[in-house]
Amino acid sequence: GDKPTILEVSDLSVSYGKVEALHGIALKIRAGEIVTVIGPNGAGKTTLLSALMGLLPARGDIVYLGQRQGAEREVESLVRQGMTLVPEKRELFGEMSVEDNLLLGAFDRYRAGQRDHAETMAQVFDTFPRLRERRTQLAGTLSGGERQMLAMGRALMARPKLLMLDEPSLGLAPLIIKEIFRIVAELKKTGVSILLVEQNARAALAVADYGYVLETGEVSLEGPSGELANDPRVIESYLGLG
Ligand code: ATP
Repeated sequence: GDKPTILEVSDLSVSYGKVEALHGIALKIRAGEIVTVIGPNGAGKTTLLSALMGLLPARGDIVYLGQRQGAEREVESLVRQGMTLVPEKRELFGEMSVEDNLLLGAFDRYRAGQRDHAETMAQVFDTFPRLRERRTQLAGTLSGGERQMLAMGRALMARPKLLMLDEPSLGLAPLIIKEIFRIVAELKKTGVSILLVEQNARAALAVADYGYVLETGEVSLEGPSGELANDPRVIESYLGLG
């Protein structure tokens, strides 16, 4: 297929001080695709997302929506251009209601004069009925699964073109994980492109179109997720028996 490319990264390297954590990564996401990056703890998955989001300086080429991103790229500007990140730590405001946390996600759009937050929130509530039920509750009182839903809902309030999810299943019970991945698959139908970073390789490959295996800062394998899920190296290292 020749769907337009949303994000193309080549030769991307990121260092913390003198220590290089990513060594020349190449990666591509086409419109409407779910792309997953799997790999062990410390492989550099969070570093990759932070660099893409403009939170860390990076070397190499990042082309987002056809535009080469310079070294001066900024989070705010990328958010305005439709890139959003749901961080591993979820970073909600516990003393604020579910609804107010969601509204914060629409802040950049609001400031740019796009006053469609009520309509967007209704869509988010349709995707996450649990959040509608809990709309007046303080975020700090939510369960782990609900907090992940709220973090995703807040990101969706920005009406992203590229939604980046950092380990959405982390710390959640199996049934909730199933629900989160069901929602990720459902989001795909809305046309949003998704970059899904996960240690839960089985669930991630099941929902993704294409996958990359990241090991010690390098892409060691890549391919359509069905092929990766059947690759003996992936099975041995990441799928185990279960
Ligand atoms: P995890 O699943 O544990 O988050 P990860 O694949 O996301 O792992 P990163 O967190 O990106 O991996 O870490 C990649 C490498 O960079 C690791 O060696 C880590 O120790 C190092 N690193 C991460 N953050 C920092 C930091 N702020 N300062 C220095 N080194 C860091």
